This record gives sequence, C-alpha cells and structure tokens, in this order.
Amino acid sequence: MATTITAPQQACVSTPTRMLINNEWLPSASGKTFATLNPATGEELAQVAEADSADVDTAVAAARQALESGAWRRISPAERGRFLTRLADLMEQDADEIARLETLDNGMPFSVARMVAVPLTVSLFRYYAGWADKNHGKTIPMGGEYFCYTRHEPVGVVGQITPWNFPLLMYGMKLPPALAMGNTVVLKPAEQTPLTALRIGELAIQAGFPPGVINILPGYGPTAGAALANHPDVDKIAFTGSTEVGHSIMEASGRTNLKRVSLELGGKSPNIVFADADMEQAIEGCHQGLFFNQGQACCAGSRLFVEDRVYDQFVEKSVARAKSRTVGDPFDAATEQGPQVDATQFNRVMSYIDIGKQEGAELLTGGCRVGNNGYFIEPTVFANVKDDMKIAREEIFGPVMSILKFHNIEEVVARANNTSYGLAAAVWTRDLGKAHAIANNVKAGTVWVNCFEVFDAAAPFGGFKQSGIGREMGEYALQLYTEVKTVIMKH
Ligand code: NAP
Ligand code: MG
Repeated sequence: MATTITAPQQACVSTPTRMLINNEWLPSASGKTFATLNPATGEELAQVAEADSADVDTAVAAARQALESGAWRRISPAERGRFLTRLADLMEQDADEIARLETLDNGMPFSVARMVAVPLTVSLFRYYAGWADKNHGKTIPMGGEYFCYTRHEPVGVVGQITPWNFPLLMYGMKLPPALAMGNTVVLKPAEQTPLTALRIGELAIQAGFPPGVINILPGYGPTAGAALANHPDVDKIAFTGSTEVGHSIMEASGRTNLKRVSLELGGKSPNIVFADADMEQAIEGCHQGLFFNQGQACCAGSRLFVEDRVYDQFVEKSVARAKSRTVGDPFDAATEQGPQVDATQFNRVMSYIDIGKQEGAELLTGGCRVGNNGYFIEPTVFANVKDDMKIAREEIFGPVMSILKFHNIEEVVARANNTSYGLAAAVWTRDLGKAHAIANNVKAGTVWVNCFEVFDAAAPFGGFKQSGIGREMGEYALQLYTEVKTVIMKH
C-alpha cells in the first residue's frame, strides 16, 4: 500500500495556471491565486489564478462579443465541427500528459485517467463534432397560405460549472454540445482540479478556436461560480455538482434573467442483486460499481440491495473482494484505488463511517485511513444496513459499500424509489421479467442490466427527481444548447 508518488510532479510545470479569456492567459483582476494540491501527498502542485466576479464580467463580455460578432455562430456548421475534431485530435496526441495531469490533480489511478477519462472525453468531442451540421429544424404543414419552419439557434453565452470527481469527462460532456450548437462558453472548473481544464484551453487555442469562444476561469464556487450563476448577461448555466448548489443555481436564475438551467446532481443509486444472478459477475460488478474512482461517482451503486436467499454468501464474497482491492500510488499500474480528492472529502467520508457504526450497521472490513500521507481510505463494507440509516440515505461519495437485504420485487422497487434522488439504478438477474420490472419501475435516468457504469458518448445521462434537469451526452443534449425559433411565412 505504498503512497509515494513516483511520477514527476513537474509534469504540470508547463501547463497554464492563469485564466483564459479571449485566447489570452491573464492573471485575475485581484491578483489572487490559490493552490491546487496533489491528493496523494497533500503537496501543492501549482498556484492558479483565482477568478472572482470582476473576471467573470470580463469573460462574459468576451463570450458575448464572440457570439454577437458572429465569429463562432455564423461560421459554417461543418467548420465548427472541424474545430471540435481538431481539438479531439490534439487531446488524443496529448493523452499521456493530460492523463498524468488528471491523476496528479485529482488522484484517480493513472490507468483510469488514461484508459477511461481521456478516451471518453475525446469521443465526446468527436461525437458532437458530427452533430454540428446536423442540427436540423423542421418544416411544419400549416395549410392555407402559410409556410412554417423551425430553426435551432444557439442559446447564447453559456456558463458551465463543474465538479472535481471526473474533471476531464465533465468538460467532454459540457463543452462540445454547447460549441457544436454555436454557443460561446465561460467554464468554471472545480477549485480542487483546475489543471486539465487549462490544458484543454491551451489545446483549443492550438486548434484555432476564435478568441472569446472558450473562456476558462479557475476559482471558487461561492465567488466565481455564484457570479456566473447570477450574471444578467449569461443565457444559460449548465451545472454538475451537489443537489444543494443545484438549488442555488435555480434560485439565481429565478432572481435574475430566467437563464436556462441544466443540472446533473447527486445520487444514491439502488443496485439490485437477485438470487438467480451470475454471482461472480454480480459481485465484481457491484464492487466496481461502488468503489470505482474511490467511490467518487455521482451514479455509484451506493444502496446495494441483495435478495435474502443469497445475502450471506454475497456479503462474504464482497468483503473478500474489498479486502483484496489495492490502494496506493495512483501511478502504480497495480493500483485500483487512489486517494480521495482532498482533506474535506476525506473527513466527510470518515465521518460517515463513524455514523454507520453509531447507527448499528455492521462494519465488516475497512473503516480506517491508509498511510499517513495523502487522503487514502480503506475499502469499507457495511452489512445489515437499514433504509432509514444515514449511510443508506445520504451521498457518501467515498469507498463505503452499504449492503441491504430484500425479499421480493414489489418491496425492492418501493424501497429503491424511496429517495429524493433518481440518477441511476442497476439490476443483476438472469430473469428477463425481473430485469424489465426494475428497468420500467425504478425512477432513475439510467438503468444498467447486468453491468454498471457503462457510458457511451451517444447514450444520454442525467437524473430524475432531485438528481437533475436535462440529459447530457447523446442527441438529447443538443436540446440543452438550442433555442427553437418558429418562423411562419405568408406565401
Ligand atoms: P459542489 O460543491 O456542488 O461543486 C460543484 C461545482 O459548483 C464546483 O465548481 C463548485 O466550486 C461550484 N459551486 C459551489 N458553490 C457554488 C455556488 N454557490 N454557486 C455556483 N457554483 C458553486 O459539488 P462537489 O461536492 O464539488 O461535487 C460532488 C457532487 O457532484 C456530488 O453530489 C455528486 O453526486 C455530484 N456529481 C454529479 C454528477 C452528475 O452527472 N449527476 C457528476 C459528478 C458529480 P468549488 O470548486 O469552489 O467547490
Ligand atoms: Mg488538486
């Protein structure tokens, strides 16, 4: 369980650390900077410009100018697609370096950054490059002397606010559909993980994006983020993060200009294992579905319901699997689990482990810190978890598995739906009837059957209920970035 970082910290020395506005790298108006840390060691990686409301004003003005001048909106849609393709190609060429930065800044295993985060992000840029010239309106038969058609126009200046758990992937989910549809963007990455956003900014300049089309402002949520959400000249906010901040984004829209809002928020996803499932497959799938990315996944299968007939066997094997999970240096190829992103998240997860113990859940493995440096936590499994326990209701966002017991379909569907979240769900069974019963009746934006956390650029993702508004990825995301204009013309 080594926690020494063998990869060169200097990897990020050449990466920009200022704000990107109008294709220029600027210090913040206040001159302030903040530290971004390596969560594997707790050491500072770089000082990054700290944007605040004055910088948001400058960036929004740049994005407005790029929009209204037609520098982006009026170039041919096919050409817009080519910009995105060029950026995708540059990211692919730079894949090792981007992945290294992501691992240094976020702590995710390098294998995950290099084999999952970078390729999926690149594929999203390519996927939306293809949509740029296929954003068709409709002709509508009105009869009489009228001809009616619709145009899909850009929403305008888009503010995008993202979390730290999958930084790159968030830029892949947000930037390309907005840009393909002709919008201009001001992006505020999470303060814990600003480096790969700035790297993408550097590559976007190389790809030839006109000034003001992509602006990137590292900074804090309550200052820069809130300034963007409250800005009267921002037409839309696309936000991924906590449900709590999601509420404040909606309120800001209501208080100001009714800007469009799309939200990807938290989850407490039910993961349901029936006794007839392929047990080995289900155990490994449920293990990955919870512990992937240190448990820092909005769609983590964090309410694991197992049918009573196989409960004891499932728990025993899941505990053995959790015990064998390798935790340590994220640059070591054998590492499955790196550190939590920062001290705040580390403390939050540890406090949920204490709460689980106090609530009477059975702690079967883990529960402690790993090593003395960085923010590593043992893979932790609680059994005999009850629906009303906090660890079964609240998002832990860490490597903590909670296993609950169920008896039949009706009961487990009702319990799965007894939450304010509705991001994802999964079911493990060989019985098609049971698979359909879960897929049709659990209120969740994505349902996986005999698999977990399978993503594709073309497959939509988003939440029911308080897990969000709108769908990212796939064709549905185009709606988030277009206004429909109806034109009625007299013959
Ligand atoms: P968070 O606190 O809501 O932060 C998300 C982003 O919002 C960060 O950039 C943050 O800035 C910013 N922010 C904070 N307060 C703000 C405010 N008042 N106004 C505007 N922006 C503000 O979430 P987090 O704890 O970092 O991320 C974890 C959460 O994200 C979890 O709940 C998880 O489920 C959710 N998530 C959802 C999805 C999805 O697709 N549904 C994906 C990933 C994560 P700072 O950097 O200063 O905090
Ligand atoms: Mg960091």
